[in-house]
Amino acid sequence: MANSKARAVSGRESALRTKRAICCHCSARCGVLVDLDAGGEPVAIRGDPGHPISQGFLCPRGRAAIEYFQHPARLDYPLKRAGARGEGRWQRVSWDEALDDIAARLLAIRAEAGAEAVAYLCGTFHGADGNFGYRLMHHFGSPNSSGIGPICAGPRLMADALTFGYGPTAPEIVPGTTRVVLLWAYHPSASGPPGWSRILAAQRAGARLIVVDPRPTTEARYADLWLRPRPGSDAALALGLLHVLLAEELWDRAFVERWTHGFDALRARAAEYPPEQVAALTGVPPDQILRAARWYAALAPAALASGAPNGLGRNALNFERALCCLIALTGNLDRPGGNRLAGPHPGVGNKTTGEDYAALPPAQRAKRLGAERFRLLHEGFERLSAAAARVWHGIAYPYSVQFWAAAHPPTLFRAIRTGQPYPVRALWVQHNNLLGCYSNSQEVYAALVSPNLELFVVHDLWLTPTAMLADYVLPAASWLEKPFLWSTGRGDPVLTGEQVTMPRHERRSDYELCRDLGRRLGQQWPERVEEVWDQWLAGAETTFDALVRAPQWWLPAPSERRRHEQPDPGTGAPLGFGTPTGKVELASTVLAELGYDPLPAHDPALDAALDRARYPLWLMVGGTRIDALHQDHRQIASLRRRHPDPQVEIDPRLAAAHGIAEGDWVRIETPRGTIYQRARLVPDLGTDVVNAERWWYPEREGRAPTLYGFWESNVSAYTEDDPALCDPAYGAWPFRVAVCRIARADAPPG
Ligand code: SF4
Repeated sequence: MANSKARAVSGRESALRTKRAICCHCSARCGVLVDLDAGGEPVAIRGDPGHPISQGFLCPRGRAAIEYFQHPARLDYPLKRAGARGEGRWQRVSWDEALDDIAARLLAIRAEAGAEAVAYLCGTFHGADGNFGYRLMHHFGSPNSSGIGPICAGPRLMADALTFGYGPTAPEIVPGTTRVVLLWAYHPSASGPPGWSRILAAQRAGARLIVVDPRPTTEARYADLWLRPRPGSDAALALGLLHVLLAEELWDRAFVERWTHGFDALRARAAEYPPEQVAALTGVPPDQILRAARWYAALAPAALASGAPNGLGRNALNFERALCCLIALTGNLDRPGGNRLAGPHPGVGNKTTGEDYAALPPAQRAKRLGAERFRLLHEGFERLSAAAARVWHGIAYPYSVQFWAAAHPPTLFRAIRTGQPYPVRALWVQHNNLLGCYSNSQEVYAALVSPNLELFVVHDLWLTPTAMLADYVLPAASWLEKPFLWSTGRGDPVLTGEQVTMPRHERRSDYELCRDLGRRLGQQWPERVEEVWDQWLAGAETTFDALVRAPQWWLPAPSERRRHEQPDPGTGAPLGFGTPTGKVELASTVLAELGYDPLPAHDPALDAALDRARYPLWLMVGGTRIDALHQDHRQIASLRRRHPDPQVEIDPRLAAAHGIAEGDWVRIETPRGTIYQRARLVPDLGTDVVNAERWWYPEREGRAPTLYGFWESNVSAYTEDDPALCDPAYGAWPFRVAVCRIARADAPPG
């Protein structure tokens, strides 16, 4: 694991050139300056003080970027399976040989079983070219593309779309102006450190910080008020806050009367959640509920930022919709220092443009796996898109498939294994360790080794547990090896970054793989990704090459505010919001038309399904750490020294009751299986919860069944994905919560 090559190079000689790039080791997108030696080898990296957001910041993951780039375990050449799936026997092949065979087999499957028999799963952020797989699939004719949206930002973005007709409603924290910052299950100190610095600056300038999180996070330690709901109860707590601000008349009457739909219905629903009842559901004392609601509602402007709370599943949209109602009722929507309703850059293309959803034939769209049950994934998407287009520059599909209309992964894995509702015979994947990314990994594993899956292709940076099961493993370029243009259409600045170095060995970028495979499938793809980006930038009268070399190498975020008050060019009347009613839909007409509850509520189904009698502890999953992003960075020696083994957080009181000391191995038993992680004692965590990690050991045996120690160490292996426990309209699965019991262990069996 040691990377002596990186250290040797970094001390070799002084830099001859410096390139300006964007770090992609998480989606915070910090600016970096990378020094190159005479041979074009990156030798040093530092934060870019000229970056408009990060302003020179660089975290340990970013500092390890050259070590990551040069790591000897990176995939360098295409590999073809030479034994049984998971046996670990590979044959090196050329790109042409691999892609010719893959394309021929995909075309044959489409001819026999329809394009929907081919599926695609995209993983976490590894560069700006990560959405082109969706384009390939839309031109191929398959509706079965998906990724991590439903367990990442998806529920929030979908709730924004249902409520406001676009999104996200990004917190706009202005030190000296913002008077309250409400962080809900959000850890910017690890997942977006530049934003955390801004929050602390606002607090120093007088803002109150409210943190809602079961864990004593860094954010909680700085909080003026810390609320600790038990896992899975966040929707109930948000409804409790709504109850207080409505009962105490702390809402913005002018905005609500003019611009909202469904106020009376929401008021009646919130009346069902008085603080005493919410306290019983959440474990948060009534006085804290009252204080949080009063601070948030009365001290305007207030900014609210949410992450992915423990629970999700059936309460994913309930929770996020309740937060949207809090923002709207308090008048913090589009108020400086509150929450900005972001919109796309008019005339500038973005990642959604790049998906080219219009190319997918309408008859194919309704076949999306899961869309029959989780009706937002097709019918809702169409209705929301049509309503949003009226307000947002006439863009036909302003919402990204990735977050708003993805195939439902738990349904997809079952379809592969069972052939129902129809067979899925091929799957290709980019940057996604499927086994650890989705709950109930036994189901995922059964799908990946099923003889029904005739072709399984992985494009990644490393041989992951999932890649070990593939028929082809294709080497991916990392972010230092490709150019960068960040344009989301969600109100961000458009950022550019230079390609620092050419891809090493035979690694190819995400775009290059899609181009080379797409052309073999009969599709038209420009030669360079920069040509695609030039098309996006044409409305801004620039090109990628011009912008990336310009003194100001970014386009500022759109400055327009309160678009709902702008006159409609046709009628002169205010544009309103991009919802079917043109108003902020506190009660969603789209949900109602699709047969769902139009109002947020607390759904107790997950609680009822979990066997707490035999497994008395709540098992929380995750919480980003600064030394690793999700399942990535396990190979990087400088980061592993900080965090060598998987860690389960345990309250010292609970640990003592089980005879567990700091650093001991802990056996964590769930109804589905057992994992082992080392105890990390965290005071004030609470004696009814533990928090475990997703983990695998790249240095261990990769062949099945070991799969780099995946089954022994990865908490996702044993969480739930039953469609009955997923959000009923959107399909988000209960990724972050389960139940367990614990015991001290001498060592893991492996
Ligand atoms: S927070 Fe760290 S990993 Fe994320 S972009 Fe910034 S430097 Fe890179």
